[in-house]
Amino acid sequence: MENNFSKVFMFLCLLNFSNHSADCSYDLNLLKDKINIIPLAVLGTGPAGLSAGIYGARSGLHTIVFHGPTPLGQLKDGILVENWPCVNKDSGINIMNNLEHQAKGFGTLLVNDTIKEVDFSTWPFKLHSQEDPNRCYYALSLVIATGATPKRLGVKNEDKYWIKGILSCPLCDAHLIKDQHAVVIGGGDSAVERILQLAPYAKEITLILRSEKVRAIHDMYKKIKDLPHVKILFNKDIESFEGDGNRLSGVNIIDTKTGEKSIVKTNWVFLSIGFDPNSSVFKKQLDLDSDGYINHDSLTQETNIKGIYVAGNVCDRIYKQASTASGDATKAAANAVKFLSDLDMSPELKKIVKQNSYYPVREDILKIESIASQKQLDEIINKREPVLIEFYSPLCSLCKSMKKTIGAIAYKYKDKMKFYKVDILKNRELAKNYNIGVVPEFLFFKDGKLIDSRSQELSRVQLIEFIELSLKS
Ligand code: NDP
Repeated sequence: MENNFSKVFMFLCLLNFSNHSADCSYDLNLLKDKINIIPLAVLGTGPAGLSAGIYGARSGLHTIVFHGPTPLGQLKDGILVENWPCVNKDSGINIMNNLEHQAKGFGTLLVNDTIKEVDFSTWPFKLHSQEDPNRCYYALSLVIATGATPKRLGVKNEDKYWIKGILSCPLCDAHLIKDQHAVVIGGGDSAVERILQLAPYAKEITLILRSEKVRAIHDMYKKIKDLPHVKILFNKDIESFEGDGNRLSGVNIIDTKTGEKSIVKTNWVFLSIGFDPNSSVFKKQLDLDSDGYINHDSLTQETNIKGIYVAGNVCDRIYKQASTASGDATKAAANAVKFLSDLDMSPELKKIVKQNSYYPVREDILKIESIASQKQLDEIINKREPVLIEFYSPLCSLCKSMKKTIGAIAYKYKDKMKFYKVDILKNRELAKNYNIGVVPEFLFFKDGKLIDSRSQELSRVQLIEFIELSLKS
């Protein structure tokens, strides 16, 4: 038995694996004193992460999928997805909820935590929790599916008017755009999708492209090209944004052919200029290319470290489709399964691994009550207890993806404070009284007065930080 334990799998480094940069010693002995072991850890719950979860759990592996800061990835924001196999047309959030349900059905365990730091220099791979600084997970194999973050332009005043006019989710903020002029910047499928989301609400939409080339596929572009209230400006670079400090009022552009400068007046801009891979955590641990995409073998999805695989937008600079992410994640998980099986653990060691595996504590979720009038809100505030009120829209996918997190946090804080929610579409007056702009927006009341507020999607850790700060103030 001891012989089995002490098997060192150096040969794995040599097999098809010339570019290895880490200390490649897959020494099974190292497992004996570890706790929080995860045979297959998956980072990310977009189409790639959940597909890897389905494959891993269905293969009988104890599979943990970490939500990370943006649960359910970008597809959840899609208004109409019509190229997800076997689904004619559906919203992104429905597709992602179904995928999550399917993954859970096979036994995949989803954890509300973000991995803030990794150490791949030894095996098992060390993953540091953001939720609990004292917790560290030990992954025997890993699929990285951390996706990508929308790019910013990096021009003057972009940060200043972020949220104050430059927004990211047309449907969340459809109430703001109604009968107004909106600008979309970019020429890919995301830009077209944003225009389709805005079209039923906005009075006028201007699409600004930096070149003559529309990158969106023909079928997508066809949907917006002839809409009467959509105007397309080609060959325009964005120079800066302007406004009164609190609210955006226009976009300064320059014609790339003539050099002519002009301003497009608008209070609302949506950026759709592509994505940057979410790979900074792996920077000194894995081989990345110059743009931050994780280098990998496209046949196996393996990174430069055996046992670590990658799928989806964090490694795909070309296709970036939910279906390709899902397919690549299936390859990644299949190879993780093979990697683990090749370790050839003895039954005794498997037992130890099982005993010492990480099992998340099932979180209790508190149902959040709705507030339907100013009178009801006043009564709650006047009790002078700490209260967090979420203003949300039923159209907002960010709000939907935060629902479970808020319910879990409400349970955690149930003895310290109260939580309520307000549907801004049903309670427009109430939203107006509190000057609610982008949603979700969180208002914290204590001692009968408003203490602080936060808007847009907050990670679990950010929401807890906000609550702790407000409770102390
Ligand atoms: P893309 O990379 O496809 O397009 C980015 C667009 O932004 C291009 O038009 C690009 O211009 C422009 N751009 C980039 N940088 C700047 C800048 N600094 N200033 C002005 N314009 C800029 O990104 P998308 O987010 O649109 O799409 C990403 C992927 O997701 C694609 O593969 C797409 O097919 C997929 N997708 C699929 C959907 C679907 O199938 N339903 C929906 C949404 C996305 P240029 O062309 O000149 O470089």
